Amino acid sequence: MGNDASEGEDFGARSAGYRIKTDVLVVGGGPVGMTCSALLAQMGIKSIVIDRKDAVSYYPKARAINARSMEIFRQLGLEQAISAAMPPERTRNFAVGKRLALSELQFFPFGLGSLTANPLTPVLGSFCTQDRLEPILFDHLQKQSVVEMMFGTELIDFTQREDGVSAIVRPASGGADVEVDALYIVAADGARRTCAEIANIGMIERSDASPMLTLIFKAPLSDIIAPLKSVFIVLGDSDGSGTGSIAGVPLARDPNEWSILCQCDPELGPDLSRYTPEKVAAMVRDIAGLPDLPVEVTTSAIWWKRAAIAETFVRDRLALIGDCAHLMPPAAGLGMNTGLLDAHNLAWRLAALTRGAGQELLDGYDRERRQEVGLVMDAAMQNDLKSYQPKDLWNRPQWGVVLGAQYDHGDVVADGSPPYPRAYPYYDYEPSGRPGERAPHMWLDEARSHSILDLFGKDFVLLGESAEVLARFDPMPELGAATIVRHALGEVAGEEGVRNWRRLYGVEPNGGVLVRPDGVVCWRGTRPDGPKRALLSILRLNHPIVSKRSCV
Ligand SMILES: Cc1cc2nc3c(=O)[nH]c(=O)nc-3n(C[C@H](O)[C@H](O)[C@H](O)COP(=O)(O)OP(=O)(O)OC[C@H]3O[C@@H](n4cnc5c(N)ncnc54)[C@H](O)[C@@H]3O)c2cc1C
Repeated sequence: MGNDASEGEDFGARSAGYRIKTDVLVVGGGPVGMTCSALLAQMGIKSIVIDRKDAVSYYPKARAINARSMEIFRQLGLEQAISAAMPPERTRNFAVGKRLALSELQFFPFGLGSLTANPLTPVLGSFCTQDRLEPILFDHLQKQSVVEMMFGTELIDFTQREDGVSAIVRPASGGADVEVDALYIVAADGARRTCAEIANIGMIERSDASPMLTLIFKAPLSDIIAPLKSVFIVLGDSDGSGTGSIAGVPLARDPNEWSILCQCDPELGPDLSRYTPEKVAAMVRDIAGLPDLPVEVTTSAIWWKRAAIAETFVRDRLALIGDCAHLMPPAAGLGMNTGLLDAHNLAWRLAALTRGAGQELLDGYDRERRQEVGLVMDAAMQNDLKSYQPKDLWNRPQWGVVLGAQYDHGDVVADGSPPYPRAYPYYDYEPSGRPGERAPHMWLDEARSHSILDLFGKDFVLLGESAEVLARFDPMPELGAATIVRHALGEVAGEEGVRNWRRLYGVEPNGGVLVRPDGVVCWRGTRPDGPKRALLSILRLNHPIVSKRSCV
């Protein structure tokens, strides 16, 4: 397990009153919470991840992992494992038709952000259902010496002090409550929102909520579904209204177990007890259009399709990420992807804060992400309206919402250049080195194995075209809260790479670009004291300090 304070101990066996200490307590071991902890670990920050479930989710839920999320997983060294988790030939298309039969379906290619190689990014978007993704993240975290995984543990309460947070957590096995002391607490507890409710942070509803059903069942469907080579199949009536969507891959745990997503029966409503196994089996046969299909119902779940955003993403030492901060209809495949970007935006701030940066750095997370999430939610809602008329849906890359986050008014130093026009924020994206934008991708080698993005992740990175140019910029004093690492691009990318870089990043020959650990450009210019001033201002440090790192 590896956390200093708890090495080698069985959590369930601890006695009442036991306290453990960490830097960050992550509440919720879903994909977003686990990714946050993995990013913290990469920066050497200790975290404890608790989850009320004793194992990762077996529900497939999210499956579309867009290119920006895959860039984050590349940073964590998980890109290959995730893209190999589902056979690519099963994920290239989606199908639409009246019944589950090859001859009655139409097939459409997917465009959810780079499923084929694209010069905008070093990665491919991927499909990996959540029941395949979560074990990959779980295994990765178990190997991190600074992470302690406590599944089967529920957050009951927490209180904040000026210098930290104390949380009460309860083992599902029935052991005594335990107190966790942390410097910061991250709420990644999904739609249940226990942390947000304790902190009295409400949700602003952006749409009506409608009840949805996930049906999980066993049936001999492999021979019918495998040849369709589709990641899901939308089945509906001839008027184009869908009655349900069946997954094109079985559950990870059983090759004969499938899932269907559909609306609640209008007569039965959102009352799970009224969906008897017989009723569910009849629904499955009806949606599939296969009246004789043998069906064994495993489980069903009701969930609410809604668009809502938290009133704030930050309260003192609490930060909200993922579904507890925002909920959006799943049709656009943006819910988890948006949460992963929250984690990326938050992790470097927490790392800097535990090392002495000013507390306002956390407020910047709310400012940057809440505005951007609002735009993404608009896109998800527009897509939802179209979700059962799929002719124009999903087949055009949604680069605007995937790569186009603009944090103009966030923790960056603006250089006065205007943003590129975003007439259609959903689709429009232009690579730009303007402060507030994602630092654009370019290959550093002819073999196309090293991207400029591979330089980012742990530290602030100052890019310049040569060692001489980099030497123009003031040396950084010992900061503790963060370091600047310098990279002379000419040394790795050659002359052509430098020309490419100047054009892509809009930088002069004697200029530099400062990139945050989350790959966002935070300064661009030629002033020798520019990078130093930018870093001090972003980290809210009036003067250089040495590390104040300590655990409560
Ligand atoms: C059918 C469907 C399809 C979807 N498809 C996509 C898609 O293709 N792409 C996409 O990006 N998104 C998709 N989504 C959305 C995606 O599933 C969610 O956005 C994602 O699961 C959010 O992850 P999370 O980690 O924030 O929350 P969750 O996955 O909900 O995880 C929260 C965790 O917190 C734990 N928890 C809750 N309360 C406590 C507590 N008090 N103490 C301890 N632990 C607690 C829970 O047990 C859970 O494990 C889809 C959703 C659905 C329903």
